[in-house]
Amino acid sequence: MKPKIAILCSGGDVSGMNPALKRFVEYAYAKGMEPYFIHRGFEGLIDNKIIPASYTDVAGIITRGGTKIGSARSIRFKDPAYRTIAANNLKRLRITMLIVLGGDGSFRGMERFYAEHGISFCGIPSTIDNDINGTDYCLGVDTALNVIKNSIDDIRDTASSFRRAFIIETMGRNCGYLALVSAITSGAELCLIPEVPVNIDDYKGCFQSQIAKGRDYFITIVSEALQNSEEIAQWFEKELGFESRVNVLGHTQRGGNPSVYDRLMAYKFVTYAIDALLAGKTHSVICYNKSHFNFKTIDEVALHPYHLDEELLILGREQFLPSHCQM
Ligand code: ADP
Repeated sequence: MKPKIAILCSGGDVSGMNPALKRFVEYAYAKGMEPYFIHRGFEGLIDNKIIPASYTDVAGIITRGGTKIGSARSIRFKDPAYRTIAANNLKRLRITMLIVLGGDGSFRGMERFYAEHGISFCGIPSTIDNDINGTDYCLGVDTALNVIKNSIDDIRDTASSFRRAFIIETMGRNCGYLALVSAITSGAELCLIPEVPVNIDDYKGCFQSQIAKGRDYFITIVSEALQNSEEIAQWFEKELGFESRVNVLGHTQRGGNPSVYDRLMAYKFVTYAIDALLAGKTHSVICYNKSHFNFKTIDEVALHPYHLDEELLILGREQFLPSHCQM
């Protein structure tokens, strides 16, 4: 009998999941396996939404954001009784391996599932926030950064024509990664993230001097974690006399046509995950560090908080700390 393998998406969706599904089906068949889709994450696992996957299911999806098989959060999966129902659904179909696209919460859930029911899994870190410990890169981040870049570039056009300060708020939960990388690569004047606390008043003299020399717009990127976009906008109005607008990018950051990098990473992550399961790895997460793939335990990934890359933080401090502000 051919080995059977299933894939599911859990937690927030990201652009790059569809390319991962395509590779999953193609590579599973290439390895002589029978691939299955589980619709709507752990909810679908409990409700037995486990469907054989074929080439036709993945035709044409590589260009689409989101995930064709849906994603979900599941309160029920935290209850061992529902995990038993989920395991019985898989056992009835003789599915012995699972690939999970999700975040550290999903991996923690899978770790319990493996300990209780012995169903092997490999996790693929997938979140636009890039806040999973143990991996430099999570699926979906590159597309989100490109969506943000396009929005900032567009806002710059209007800001420069109308003498305004724009406060652009990015996602990222408690992590400043999206805001910092976007601010550096979009040439923003100011970047506010939780990892680098600053006093906004320390910029006043420098910005006044820039205005005196002809600066007629400001682009500020703020991480959603700080929850102070309106306050910053008022500061520009009150302290610098600049008309200000807040732009919360919101869920546009989650969507969009997957970037070349995310498509390629989806292909590589899935290939490593299937190879690992076939080689007998029972419960791991495939991570990407310094251009290499490696496998980590759930504890390494889920028990420690994520820390923003030090090299990026140095760049950010050089660019955005008040002491480095160019008069
Ligand atoms: P992410 O995977 O993006 O971190 P969540 O933290 O919301 O997202 O977790 C996704 C799902 O994983 C939850 O809805 C739940 O079903 C499952 N999960 C999370 N933590 C646990 C846990 N400790 N035990 C069992 N299931 C869990």
